[in-house]
Amino acid sequence: MRAAVREVPDFPRPGINFKDITPLLADRELFGAACALMAEPFLTAGITHVVSIESRGFLFGAPVAVALGAGVVPVRKPGKLPFRTTREEYALEYGTDALEVHDDALPEGARVLIADDVLATGGTAAATARLVRRVGAEVIGSTFLIELAFLGGRAMLPPHRVESAIVYT
Ligand code: AMP
Repeated sequence: MRAAVREVPDFPRPGINFKDITPLLADRELFGAACALMAEPFLTAGITHVVSIESRGFLFGAPVAVALGAGVVPVRKPGKLPFRTTREEYALEYGTDALEVHDDALPEGARVLIADDVLATGGTAAATARLVRRVGAEVIGSTFLIELAFLGGRAMLPPHRVESAIVYT
């Protein structure tokens, strides 16, 4: 799997070493194995909903939800969801960004797994965890295909369980 992640230097900005997962996605064996690895730690965790983050998180959130017998809930960039939403802002290197979820997306008592492709600084996943809690659900864990451990994003996410299939140290 690691060999199928292509490193693209200086994309989308100078200094960023972008992890291009498209070769892994296109390989039927590797993609299936990746989704299975992301779901496996949570098979017995009683997950009711997988919350996936726009846009590459959607590619993993849906199959992981099917593997866990859970529903899938999209967290999207502002202005994309049509019904009433709750919004969380988070800091970027320069400025801020925001994510939204439908107010009624998660019923009381929902046990949520957050799914995304890459855990970098953790800002995106931490904002998603805040959103889930604000709409009244419980975050049980988060799962990533790739963790850039040298950026320390995991420290942003306690107290829930954080799992990643491929770790770069
Ligand atoms: P962060 O909020 O810093 O943890 O960034 C996570 C989000 O940015 C994820 O949704 C990733 O899709 C994307 N991302 C951050 N760094 C990279 C990278 N080096 N390669 C690919 N995607 C990245």
